[in-house]
Amino acid sequence: MLSSAFFKFALKKYKMNEFDEFDEFRDRQSTIGEDGNRVWVYPKKPKGRLYNYRKLVSLVLLAIFFILPFIKVEGDPIVLFNFLERKFIIFGVMFYPQDFHLFVLSMIAFIVFIVLFTVIFGRIFCGWICPQTIFMEFVYRQIEYWIEGNYNQQRTLDKSSMNFNKLWRKGLKHLLFFLISVISVFFFLAYIVGIDRVGVIISEGPSANISGFIGLIIFSIVHYFVFAKLREQVCIIICPYGRLQGVLLDRNSIVVSYDYKRGEPRGKYNPLEDRKAHDKGDCIECGSCEAVCPTGIDIRNGTQLECINCTACIDACNSVMRRVKKPEGLIRYASERSISDNARLKFNVRILFYSVVLTGLLVLIAFLFSIRTDIESTILRQKGTMFQEYDSLHYSNIYLIQVINKTRKTLPVELKLDEPENGEIKMVGDPLVIEKGMIGEAQFLVLIKKTDLKSSNTKVEFKVMSNGKKMDEIESTFVGPNSLDRK
Ligand code: SF4
Ligand code: SF4
Repeated sequence: MLSSAFFKFALKKYKMNEFDEFDEFRDRQSTIGEDGNRVWVYPKKPKGRLYNYRKLVSLVLLAIFFILPFIKVEGDPIVLFNFLERKFIIFGVMFYPQDFHLFVLSMIAFIVFIVLFTVIFGRIFCGWICPQTIFMEFVYRQIEYWIEGNYNQQRTLDKSSMNFNKLWRKGLKHLLFFLISVISVFFFLAYIVGIDRVGVIISEGPSANISGFIGLIIFSIVHYFVFAKLREQVCIIICPYGRLQGVLLDRNSIVVSYDYKRGEPRGKYNPLEDRKAHDKGDCIECGSCEAVCPTGIDIRNGTQLECINCTACIDACNSVMRRVKKPEGLIRYASERSISDNARLKFNVRILFYSVVLTGLLVLIAFLFSIRTDIESTILRQKGTMFQEYDSLHYSNIYLIQVINKTRKTLPVELKLDEPENGEIKMVGDPLVIEKGMIGEAQFLVLIKKTDLKSSNTKVEFKVMSNGKKMDEIESTFVGPNSLDRK
């Protein structure tokens, strides 16, 4: 009874953040030892229902990642982020620098969505969708388990002195790691320059594109280093999203949580013992949850920055609970509030605020998309020119038209003068024809009858047409002589 009372007191202090002994685990990171050196994490291979679901999700996402660069829409990749040429294609829709506002708004909406999602569902993205987790847990870690065995065999192998067994296992593992890194970097590159260009780079060989190849090798080494050496440090130290958890999560956020009310006071399992009679909770201190954790933490200490919500500890604990004939869910997706107060998710002011902002942004983006035109044109009077006397009846101004063709086909562009009614347009040079994704420009004259000019500045209205279809409307001014000269 005394120990129970002490535990309740300690737990209260711990939750109030006043009892240093219970917060000791927060003094340093799980992967940094007392001597300041890295503690290598050897997570036990997880198994269980959630792990199987995650495997399935990862397979689908990896398949999408490797197949998407091959999918084309009218000859162009379906997704492209060509920062070098400032050309972006997202699910077949082409974006140009002129659409930058749409791109920025979409990014803001995406960030607000992530924030809202995190406020409600915690770091679920990290465990299920993040490329770092998917590549680490379902590509590189699987190779490691396959070649070096499970966590205890890996530990033994690392501790052993160099021998043939260690040499070939380590050698093969790192060779495969590097090969996968090279392949992955080529596919990442395909999202930037397109799979055809990547094919050309490969077929032409390093001599034809030495700087490109050096870049690829450097990125491959970085990629390899991230998964062979850095690993969980990316999630714990480098990833900005991970660092934001402290401000995004609150007591209502649903995260992977240990039900301390049910689990404590923890105690070793004895099948002959009546745990209730001995005031023991459901946690049997088996350490399975800690053993599978890829970031090396003990979830029973509470929500921690290192937790990527991978659910491995849920599966591990559920399997233990089944074995000791206790209900599953001692570790589960739950909010701190739901555990401490047995309360359901509350729609608080923060969630409401983010939802309103997100809805507003989505409406704005939808509106901007709806008014997005296939071409974007500008017409400016030629710099440094005034009016000219074209013939005895007309004055003329010279203009420059610039048109961006955002469509996937070559567009012939014609101009019509809407106002003034009797004005005329005379193109200079060849008719304007613009290839897909290109910018075209041409000069043209506008002729207006001297008798039609009522002031020195006359409004002119143009229609930009293509294949008989109106694409854009532009206003400009026609400069004429002042009233005295016209007389
Ligand atoms: S505590 Fe559990 S959910 Fe969090 S990283 Fe470790 S195993 Fe994954
Ligand atoms: S796996 Fe479950 S029972 Fe075992 S130590 Fe972790 S919380 Fe306790």
